[in-house]
Amino acid sequence: MTRIAILGATGSIGTSALAVVETHAGRLQVVGLAAGHNVEGMAAAMARHAPAAVAMATGAGLDALRAACGGVLPPVHGAGSEGLVAVATHPDVEIVLCASSGTAALEAVLAAIEAGKTIALANKEVLVMAGGLVMDAARRKGVPILPVDSEHNAIHQCLHGHAHGEVRRLILTASGGPFRGRPAASLAAVTAADALRHPTWQMGPKITIDSATLMNKGLEVIEAHWLFDVPAADISVVVHPQSIVHSLVEFRDGSILAQMGRTDMQLPIQYAFSYPERWDAPVPFLDLTRMGALEFHEPAWDDFPCLRLAFRALEADRSLPIVLNAANEVAVASFLEGTLAFTGIPRVIEACMNAHDPGPAATLDQVRRIDAWARTRAAAEAARDRIDR
Ligand code: MG
Repeated sequence: MTRIAILGATGSIGTSALAVVETHAGRLQVVGLAAGHNVEGMAAAMARHAPAAVAMATGAGLDALRAACGGVLPPVHGAGSEGLVAVATHPDVEIVLCASSGTAALEAVLAAIEAGKTIALANKEVLVMAGGLVMDAARRKGVPILPVDSEHNAIHQCLHGHAHGEVRRLILTASGGPFRGRPAASLAAVTAADALRHPTWQMGPKITIDSATLMNKGLEVIEAHWLFDVPAADISVVVHPQSIVHSLVEFRDGSILAQMGRTDMQLPIQYAFSYPERWDAPVPFLDLTRMGALEFHEPAWDDFPCLRLAFRALEADRSLPIVLNAANEVAVASFLEGTLAFTGIPRVIEACMNAHDPGPAATLDQVRRIDAWARTRAAAEAARDRIDR
């Protein structure tokens, strides 16, 4: 039995992970569950999986969960960052799936690494913000970080059995999002509802907006740098609208290995749970003769400036990726509220990056301080650009 904790249990990755656990009930067991604010979803997951540890984002959420569970919670329970840490470090847990969105889980991931847990990472903000800290801690403790993000999971599969020196380039595929090919002049008027209609993946709102701006790919470039120790110059992005090839690795001899599969997150989640084994498929097999043509294009760099901003942040290294990530979270939240235009998102991020003097970010304290500065600055920038819909 592999015993698992899921941070972000009621989100899109969390529910897919619970489906994988149910498919392989003889091999996987849920020990801990943490959710944000979805009490109903959490109570339903608890009824099916009987975890030993649970957490909610707030004390009020935990009280509501207790009421929904007939007044009784498992022995280990908590709220906020402490609750996440308690779930992630429960002594029975072997793998922590970090699938919460945003940066709230950073402390819990670091605590889980210190406790020797394997990390299955579906959250990219944790590495964008604190990649150096997280990877150093994992190396020191000998803890594997298994990527669940479909692109990085694909690269992990392609790299299996190959030496680092054999790699020439990582190639991340991007669907291009819902606005691929749309005239740049029309992007200022798109709404959150337009942006939330993603062509190939069903995901939470933050990552779906990030897919529409291509910031999701930008964050993934930074994530790939940390996971695979490859510089920005050796990471490429190609637009692949079909999302069948999940990413590729080009080797120094000119060979390219690609990983293909259905656009269903159960596949990379199961890979992280079963690694280094492979288990029976949780979803129907891919029929090569029915998937049609596969296309690969250069990204529209000028229409979607977020991708270039992410490369710039990674090349500058140090604290700039923290500013990029924090400003993006604030700008996306404003866009979702309808108070910032779609084209205001990269403007807010770039203004924050320009105002920031990059420095070291070697401790959690430094990371949190730069993050807080960038959020305040981004809120001011977003307020300056405020629109009313
Ligand atoms: Mg991805």
